[in-house]
Amino acid sequence: MQTPFPEEQLLFTPASPDNDAVGLVFAFPNEYTVGITSLGFQIVWAKLAGRSDLDVRRLFMDLQEPLPRDLELFGVSLSWELDYGNILSLLEKFDIPIWATERGDSDPLIFGGGPVLTANPEPFAEFFDIVLLGDGELLLDEFIDVYKTVRGLSRQAKLQRLAQVPGIYIPSLYEVQYEAPDGAIARLTPIDAETPATVTKQTYRGNVLSASTVVTPKAAWENIFMVEVVRSCPEMCRFCLASYLTLPFRPASLEDSLIPAIDQGLKVTNRLGLLGASVTQHPEFDSLLDHINQPQFDDVRVSVSSVRTNTVTENLLRR
Ligand code: SF4
Repeated sequence: MQTPFPEEQLLFTPASPDNDAVGLVFAFPNEYTVGITSLGFQIVWAKLAGRSDLDVRRLFMDLQEPLPRDLELFGVSLSWELDYGNILSLLEKFDIPIWATERGDSDPLIFGGGPVLTANPEPFAEFFDIVLLGDGELLLDEFIDVYKTVRGLSRQAKLQRLAQVPGIYIPSLYEVQYEAPDGAIARLTPIDAETPATVTKQTYRGNVLSASTVVTPKAAWENIFMVEVVRSCPEMCRFCLASYLTLPFRPASLEDSLIPAIDQGLKVTNRLGLLGASVTQHPEFDSLLDHINQPQFDDVRVSVSSVRTNTVTENLLRR
Protein backbone atom coordinates (compact mmCIF):
# COMPACT_ATOMS: atom_id res chain seq x y z
CA MET A 1 0.00 0.00 0.00
CA GLN A 2 1.44 3.37 -0.98
CA THR A 3 1.51 5.70 2.01
CA PRO A 4 0.11 9.24 1.85
CA PHE A 5 2.57 10.06 4.64
CA PRO A 6 6.02 9.54 3.04
CA GLU A 7 7.89 11.67 5.58
CA GLU A 8 6.98 9.51 8.57
CA GLN A 9 9.68 7.60 10.44
CA LEU A 10 8.01 4.66 12.15
CA LEU A 11 9.36 3.41 15.46
CA PHE A 12 7.43 0.14 15.29
CA THR A 13 6.86 -2.48 12.62
CA PRO A 14 3.27 -2.71 11.34
CA ALA A 15 2.10 -6.29 10.73
CA SER A 16 1.11 -7.50 7.27
CA PRO A 17 -2.66 -8.12 7.39
CA ASP A 18 -3.82 -11.76 7.09
CA ASN A 19 -6.14 -12.65 4.19
CA ASP A 20 -9.19 -12.62 6.46
CA ALA A 21 -8.08 -9.64 8.56
CA VAL A 22 -10.81 -7.44 10.04
CA GLY A 23 -11.02 -4.18 8.07
CA LEU A 24 -10.69 -1.24 10.45
CA VAL A 25 -10.49 2.52 9.95
CA PHE A 26 -8.95 4.51 12.78
CA ALA A 27 -9.83 8.18 12.54
CA PHE A 28 -8.73 11.38 14.20
CA PRO A 29 -11.44 14.01 13.57
CA ASN A 30 -9.07 16.84 12.73
CA GLU A 31 -6.28 17.48 10.23
CA TYR A 32 -3.30 15.13 9.94
CA THR A 33 -0.89 17.60 11.51
CA VAL A 34 -3.05 17.75 14.66
CA GLY A 35 -3.95 14.06 14.85
CA ILE A 36 -0.45 12.73 14.36
CA THR A 37 0.77 14.95 17.22
CA SER A 38 -1.58 13.15 19.62
CA LEU A 39 0.40 10.57 21.56
CA GLY A 40 -2.85 8.72 22.34
CA PHE A 41 -3.69 8.43 18.63
CA GLN A 42 -0.16 7.22 17.83
CA ILE A 43 -0.25 4.56 20.52
CA VAL A 44 -3.66 3.15 19.64
CA TRP A 45 -2.87 3.15 15.93
CA ALA A 46 0.44 1.30 16.49
CA LYS A 47 -1.23 -1.21 18.78
CA LEU A 48 -3.92 -1.96 16.21
CA ALA A 49 -1.54 -1.90 13.24
CA GLY A 50 0.76 -4.34 15.04
CA ARG A 51 -1.91 -7.07 14.82
CA SER A 52 -1.96 -9.19 11.65
CA ASP A 53 -5.63 -10.01 12.23
CA LEU A 54 -6.53 -6.37 11.53
CA ASP A 55 -6.21 -4.36 8.32
CA VAL A 56 -5.92 -0.84 9.78
CA ARG A 57 -6.15 2.38 7.76
CA ARG A 58 -5.77 5.87 9.18
CA LEU A 59 -8.18 8.67 8.41
CA PHE A 60 -7.92 12.40 9.09
CA MET A 61 -10.06 15.30 7.89
CA ASP A 62 -7.59 16.19 5.13
CA LEU A 63 -5.67 12.95 4.42
CA GLN A 64 -6.38 9.24 4.52
CA GLU A 65 -5.06 5.84 3.64
CA PRO A 66 -7.18 3.81 1.16
CA LEU A 67 -10.15 2.12 2.84
CA PRO A 68 -9.91 -1.64 3.57
CA ARG A 69 -11.84 -4.02 1.29
CA ASP A 70 -14.51 -4.75 3.90
CA LEU A 71 -14.91 -2.08 6.55
CA GLU A 72 -16.10 -3.75 9.77
CA LEU A 73 -14.89 -1.40 12.50
CA PHE A 74 -14.64 2.40 12.38
CA GLY A 75 -12.77 3.86 15.37
CA VAL A 76 -12.43 7.45 16.49
CA SER A 77 -9.97 8.98 18.93
CA LEU A 78 -11.63 12.03 20.48
CA SER A 79 -9.23 14.36 22.29
CA TRP A 80 -11.15 17.63 22.08
CA GLU A 81 -14.86 18.34 22.31
CA LEU A 82 -14.71 20.83 19.44
CA ASP A 83 -13.69 18.03 17.04
CA TYR A 84 -16.99 16.31 17.66
CA GLY A 85 -18.83 17.81 14.67
CA ASN A 86 -16.08 16.46 12.41
CA ILE A 87 -16.97 12.89 13.41
CA LEU A 88 -20.40 13.36 11.89
CA SER A 89 -18.82 14.79 8.71
CA LEU A 90 -16.58 11.73 8.43
CA LEU A 91 -19.51 9.34 8.85
CA GLU A 92 -21.50 11.21 6.20
CA LYS A 93 -18.50 11.17 3.85
CA PHE A 94 -18.51 7.36 3.94
CA ASP A 95 -22.33 7.04 3.76
CA ILE A 96 -22.55 5.66 7.30
CA PRO A 97 -25.75 6.72 9.13
CA ILE A 98 -24.79 9.19 11.85
CA TRP A 99 -27.35 7.83 14.37
CA ALA A 100 -26.41 4.47 15.86
CA THR A 101 -30.05 3.32 15.77
CA GLU A 102 -30.21 3.79 11.98
CA ARG A 103 -27.21 1.53 11.26
CA GLY A 104 -27.79 -2.00 9.99
CA ASP A 105 -25.84 -5.25 9.75
CA SER A 106 -23.96 -4.04 6.66
CA ASP A 107 -22.66 -0.88 8.37
CA PRO A 108 -19.42 -0.90 10.35
CA LEU A 109 -19.52 -0.72 14.14
CA ILE A 110 -18.52 2.79 15.22
CA PHE A 111 -16.30 2.79 18.29
CA GLY A 112 -14.64 5.63 20.12
CA GLY A 113 -12.27 6.33 22.96
CA GLY A 114 -10.03 9.05 24.33
CA PRO A 115 -10.27 11.60 27.11
CA VAL A 116 -13.47 13.30 25.95
CA LEU A 117 -15.47 10.06 25.78
CA THR A 118 -13.98 8.69 28.98
CA ALA A 119 -14.84 11.90 30.84
CA ASN A 120 -18.49 11.77 29.77
CA PRO A 121 -19.74 9.67 26.87
CA GLU A 122 -23.39 10.74 27.12
CA PRO A 123 -23.33 13.88 24.91
CA PHE A 124 -22.00 11.66 22.08
CA ALA A 125 -23.70 8.39 22.97
CA GLU A 126 -26.29 8.36 20.18
CA PHE A 127 -23.59 8.43 17.50
CA PHE A 128 -21.43 5.59 18.84
CA ASP A 129 -22.14 1.85 18.86
CA ILE A 130 -19.26 1.20 21.25
CA VAL A 131 -17.41 3.45 23.71
CA LEU A 132 -14.10 2.34 25.25
CA LEU A 133 -13.67 3.82 28.73
CA GLY A 134 -10.26 4.36 30.30
CA ASP A 135 -6.75 3.25 29.40
CA GLY A 136 -6.39 1.35 26.13
CA GLU A 137 -3.29 -0.71 26.95
CA LEU A 138 -5.22 -3.90 27.80
CA LEU A 139 -8.74 -2.94 26.73
CA LEU A 140 -8.00 -2.64 23.00
CA ASP A 141 -6.72 -6.20 22.64
CA GLU A 142 -9.63 -7.54 24.62
CA PHE A 143 -12.08 -5.61 22.45
CA ILE A 144 -10.60 -6.98 19.22
CA ASP A 145 -10.24 -10.53 20.58
CA VAL A 146 -13.89 -10.63 21.62
CA TYR A 147 -15.05 -8.95 18.41
CA LYS A 148 -13.43 -11.75 16.40
CA THR A 149 -15.48 -14.36 18.24
CA VAL A 150 -18.76 -12.67 17.19
CA ARG A 151 -17.71 -11.42 13.78
CA GLY A 152 -20.30 -13.43 11.83
CA LEU A 153 -23.24 -12.65 14.12
CA SER A 154 -25.90 -9.95 13.81
CA ARG A 155 -25.11 -6.39 14.86
CA GLN A 156 -27.25 -6.74 17.98
CA ALA A 157 -25.60 -10.02 19.02
CA LYS A 158 -22.13 -8.49 18.54
CA LEU A 159 -23.02 -5.53 20.74
CA GLN A 160 -24.55 -7.72 23.45
CA ARG A 161 -21.41 -9.84 23.63
CA LEU A 162 -19.07 -6.82 23.61
CA ALA A 163 -21.06 -5.27 26.47
CA GLN A 164 -19.74 -8.07 28.70
CA VAL A 165 -16.15 -6.79 28.36
CA PRO A 166 -15.17 -4.59 31.32
CA GLY A 167 -14.61 -1.02 30.09
CA ILE A 168 -16.85 -1.35 27.03
CA TYR A 169 -19.99 0.79 27.13
CA ILE A 170 -22.70 0.08 24.55
CA PRO A 171 -25.02 3.12 24.78
CA SER A 172 -27.92 1.42 22.94
CA LEU A 173 -28.14 -1.22 25.68
CA TYR A 174 -28.85 1.35 28.40
CA GLU A 175 -31.68 3.74 29.13
CA VAL A 176 -30.59 7.12 30.52
CA GLN A 177 -32.92 9.19 32.66
CA TYR A 178 -32.17 12.80 33.54
CA GLU A 179 -33.28 14.75 36.59
CA ALA A 180 -34.41 17.52 34.24
CA PRO A 181 -34.01 18.10 30.48
CA ASP A 182 -30.95 20.25 31.23
CA GLY A 183 -30.01 18.47 34.46
CA ALA A 184 -27.74 15.72 35.70
CA ILE A 185 -28.16 12.03 34.94
CA ALA A 186 -30.60 10.47 37.43
CA ARG A 187 -29.96 6.84 36.49
CA LEU A 188 -28.56 4.60 33.79
CA THR A 189 -30.42 1.31 33.48
CA PRO A 190 -29.54 -1.68 31.30
CA ILE A 191 -32.38 -2.58 28.96
CA ASP A 192 -32.05 -6.33 29.63
CA ALA A 193 -30.87 -8.63 32.39
CA GLU A 194 -27.73 -9.78 30.49
CA THR A 195 -26.21 -6.31 30.17
CA PRO A 196 -23.94 -5.35 33.11
CA ALA A 197 -25.50 -2.71 35.38
CA THR A 198 -22.13 -0.96 35.76
CA VAL A 199 -19.36 -0.32 33.23
CA THR A 200 -15.99 -0.01 34.90
CA LYS A 201 -13.41 2.38 33.45
CA GLN A 202 -10.21 0.47 32.74
CA THR A 203 -6.98 1.39 34.50
CA TYR A 204 -3.63 0.13 33.26
CA ARG A 205 -1.26 -0.42 36.16
CA GLY A 206 1.98 -1.29 34.37
CA ASN A 207 5.12 0.83 34.79
CA VAL A 208 5.85 1.13 31.04
CA LEU A 209 3.98 4.16 29.76
CA SER A 210 3.59 5.54 26.24
CA ALA A 211 6.17 6.80 23.79
CA SER A 212 5.90 8.03 20.20
CA THR A 213 5.47 5.38 17.53
CA VAL A 214 6.05 7.81 14.68
CA VAL A 215 8.13 10.95 14.13
CA THR A 216 7.32 13.33 11.28
CA PRO A 217 8.13 16.90 10.21
CA LYS A 218 4.39 17.33 9.50
CA ALA A 219 3.43 17.06 13.18
CA ALA A 220 2.23 20.27 14.84
CA TRP A 221 5.46 20.11 16.88
CA GLU A 222 7.63 19.07 14.00
CA ASN A 223 9.81 15.98 14.40
CA ILE A 224 8.98 15.66 18.07
CA PHE A 225 9.51 12.37 19.88
CA MET A 226 7.21 12.21 22.93
CA VAL A 227 7.46 10.12 26.08
CA GLU A 228 4.82 9.93 28.79
CA VAL A 229 6.73 10.53 32.02
CA VAL A 230 3.78 10.33 34.40
CA ARG A 231 0.08 9.59 34.13
CA SER A 232 -2.35 11.63 36.26
CA CYS A 233 -1.14 14.10 38.91
CA PRO A 234 -0.64 13.65 42.66
CA GLU A 235 -2.03 17.13 43.49
CA MET A 236 -5.59 16.10 42.60
CA CYS A 237 -6.99 19.64 42.30
CA ARG A 238 -10.71 18.99 42.41
CA PHE A 239 -11.51 20.77 39.13
CA CYS A 240 -8.78 19.05 37.11
CA LEU A 241 -9.72 16.50 34.46
CA ALA A 242 -6.06 15.74 33.67
CA SER A 243 -5.68 14.41 37.18
CA TYR A 244 -9.04 12.74 37.89
CA LEU A 245 -9.58 11.12 34.51
CA THR A 246 -6.46 8.98 34.74
CA LEU A 247 -6.05 8.31 38.48
CA PRO A 248 -4.06 6.88 40.16
CA PHE A 249 -0.85 8.87 39.69
CA ARG A 250 1.69 6.60 37.98
CA PRO A 251 5.30 7.36 37.08
CA ALA A 252 6.92 5.48 34.19
CA SER A 253 9.86 3.31 35.18
CA LEU A 254 13.13 5.12 34.47
CA GLU A 255 15.03 1.94 33.58
CA ASP A 256 12.28 -0.07 31.82
CA SER A 257 10.34 2.69 30.10
CA LEU A 258 11.81 6.19 29.88
CA ILE A 259 15.52 5.63 29.18
CA PRO A 260 15.08 2.90 26.53
CA ALA A 261 12.32 4.91 24.82
CA ILE A 262 14.31 8.16 24.82
CA ASP A 263 17.47 6.45 23.54
CA GLN A 264 15.48 4.87 20.69
CA GLY A 265 13.62 8.07 19.81
CA LEU A 266 16.67 10.31 19.81
CA LYS A 267 18.26 8.11 17.14
CA VAL A 268 15.78 9.56 14.62
CA THR A 269 15.26 13.12 15.86
CA ASN A 270 16.73 15.73 18.19
CA ARG A 271 13.48 17.03 19.60
CA LEU A 272 12.15 15.47 22.79
CA GLY A 273 8.81 16.10 24.48
CA LEU A 274 8.35 15.03 28.11
CA LEU A 275 4.62 14.57 28.62
CA GLY A 276 2.38 14.37 31.65
CA ALA A 277 0.08 16.49 33.80
CA SER A 278 2.92 17.29 36.22
CA VAL A 279 6.10 15.94 34.65
CA THR A 280 8.56 17.18 37.26
CA GLN A 281 6.79 15.24 40.01
CA HIS A 282 8.19 11.99 38.66
CA PRO A 283 10.09 10.66 41.73
CA GLU A 284 13.28 10.21 39.66
CA PHE A 285 12.97 13.33 37.53
CA ASP A 286 16.48 14.49 38.45
CA SER A 287 17.93 11.19 37.26
CA LEU A 288 15.98 11.57 34.02
CA LEU A 289 17.49 15.04 33.59
CA ASP A 290 20.96 13.60 34.25
CA HIS A 291 20.37 11.12 31.44
CA ILE A 292 19.34 13.74 28.89
CA ASN A 293 22.10 16.11 30.06
CA GLN A 294 24.75 13.69 28.72
CA PRO A 295 27.02 15.18 26.02
CA GLN A 296 25.58 13.03 23.20
CA PHE A 297 22.24 14.82 23.70
CA ASP A 298 23.70 18.37 23.67
CA ASP A 299 21.83 19.30 20.49
CA VAL A 300 18.52 17.91 21.73
CA ARG A 301 15.74 20.42 22.23
CA VAL A 302 13.64 19.38 25.22
CA SER A 303 10.05 20.49 25.85
CA VAL A 304 8.20 19.79 29.08
CA SER A 305 4.41 19.78 28.83
CA SER A 306 3.60 20.97 32.34
CA VAL A 307 5.66 22.08 35.35
CA ARG A 308 4.46 23.16 38.78
CA THR A 309 6.54 26.14 39.82
CA ASN A 310 7.30 24.70 43.25
CA THR A 311 9.02 21.71 41.62
CA VAL A 312 11.51 23.67 39.49
CA THR A 313 15.10 22.76 40.33
CA GLU A 314 18.47 24.17 39.39
CA ASN A 315 19.12 21.02 37.35
CA LEU A 316 15.96 21.63 35.29
CA LEU A 317 16.80 25.31 34.75
CA ARG A 318 20.32 24.42 33.63
CA ARG A 319 18.91 22.06 31.02
S1 SF4 B 1 -2.21 18.95 36.67
FE1 SF4 B 1 -2.19 20.96 37.69
S2 SF4 B 1 -4.36 21.47 37.98
FE2 SF4 B 1 -4.26 19.25 37.56
S3 SF4 B 1 -4.18 18.26 39.58
FE3 SF4 B 1 -2.08 18.58 38.90
S4 SF4 B 1 -1.44 20.56 39.78
FE4 SF4 B 1 -3.70 20.45 39.86
